[in-house]
Amino acid sequence: MAFKVIIIGGGPVGLFLANGLQRSGIDYLLFEKRPTIPPTTAFGIFLWPQVTRMMHQLGLLDKLREVSHPMTGIIHSAPSGEQLSADTIFSMTHKIHGYPVVVTDRGSLANTLLSGLEDPENHIFTGKQLNNIITQEKGVTVEFTDGTSYDGSIVIGADGIWSTVRDQIRQQAPKGLFPQNPFKASYKGVFGRGPLVEGISSGQGIEVHGDGWLIQAFPSQKETHMFIYKRIPSTTTKIPFSSVVTDDDVAEFYDAKLTPQVAFKDIWDKRYAQGTANFEEGVCNLWHYDRIAMVGDAVHKISPKQGVAANVGMEAAATLTNKLASLLQNNPDPTTKEVNKAFSTYQSELEGKVGVWQRLSRFNLESAVDSSGPLLEAMSTNAAARVPTMVSKSFKFEHVPFDHQYGNELPWVY
Ligand SMILES: Cc1cc2nc3c(=O)[nH]c(=O)nc-3n(C[C@H](O)[C@H](O)[C@H](O)COP(=O)(O)OP(=O)(O)OC[C@H]3O[C@@H](n4cnc5c(N)ncnc54)[C@H](O)[C@@H]3O)c2cc1C
Repeated sequence: MAFKVIIIGGGPVGLFLANGLQRSGIDYLLFEKRPTIPPTTAFGIFLWPQVTRMMHQLGLLDKLREVSHPMTGIIHSAPSGEQLSADTIFSMTHKIHGYPVVVTDRGSLANTLLSGLEDPENHIFTGKQLNNIITQEKGVTVEFTDGTSYDGSIVIGADGIWSTVRDQIRQQAPKGLFPQNPFKASYKGVFGRGPLVEGISSGQGIEVHGDGWLIQAFPSQKETHMFIYKRIPSTTTKIPFSSVVTDDDVAEFYDAKLTPQVAFKDIWDKRYAQGTANFEEGVCNLWHYDRIAMVGDAVHKISPKQGVAANVGMEAAATLTNKLASLLQNNPDPTTKEVNKAFSTYQSELEGKVGVWQRLSRFNLESAVDSSGPLLEAMSTNAAARVPTMVSKSFKFEHVPFDHQYGNELPWVY
């Protein structure tokens, strides 16, 4: 059997990985437990220049532009609607790196990524919930709850925060190497999608800062993505995503003003999608075992405040793709030991960056909800000092041609 990657999970990271593998000449099969891709989701997603650049490399940037909106900046407000400050952080980021920061909905992103995949009928399988992985000397067999099974060379778990792949690894690895729940939440979230309303402009984000809480509103070309963050006592209890949001969940924020004219409730009352979840954070100690590796939320969880968590997962998917492509170039039938070396390099090249993004996002959120009022200068000074260099050091696909990448003030390192 030619080398074949089994991807578990058809979220943004799994679909991005599938594109990267295909374009790097590596065969794959992707299995998603939900009956369809794309999903209907309650919240939007920011894509940063490190990802919009790779979408360009994959030939998907024009399609992405059609279904997203470039962001310009953020207005910071008090709960009374009084404007505290306004910036052009996202336009500046575009200028620095040559690629935009865009906001889109997850269904549109999934469709864009699916459009890049050749022969999807023979590569993408929905309604397939993984429940067992058997590793052998030369490959793997994955088994699904519907009784089917498939063979491959390695498994990549892109199956999100409550990863079944991670559970499977834990059963096979030495006790204590993979804890039951490696993540901890200190904030919970409520989110929703509603219409655009008069008085807020597409591309212009708004943050309303309270004591221990924050509201974000990000208007795209067609709708407003709303997020609430509320500090809670830290917990490792598994609280699954829920689409039930009670009046109590939003009571504290309901009358808060995004601008002097527009209140949170003006959009929230017209919402057509909603959800709640805890915002877990954490990075797994080990990202792979035997012929199995993990990528995305399955192995690193970052608070959504900075809007980079999936971006980091996509960069991880590119890094993993690069390591596999380099390995297979010299050796089309690698041993488990050789595969492990590639997995180990993947983790070691990325985990430092993941830690920085995680700290940046956490600092950003803590500063935004400070009890003395938002620490806006600290936030902007820290972001200006750290974010551009982090973005410029992002990896891209090493085995996919890319002749005409855009650049600007700060050159891309890779
Ligand atoms: C409110 C909110 C806002 C956010 N905003 C941003 C943002 O603006 N920018 C950003 O970069 N990140 C953002 N994030 C984080 C981002 O959503 C995640 O980092 C991203 O979804 C992770 O992608 P993933 O593919 O790793 O996992 P997921 O998106 O969780 O996808 C995992 C997939 O695996 C499937 N699956 C699970 N178990 C199995 C199984 N046993 N068998 C088969 N399939 C399985 C699931 O159905 C799912 O489709 C936000 C998160 C939240 C909660």
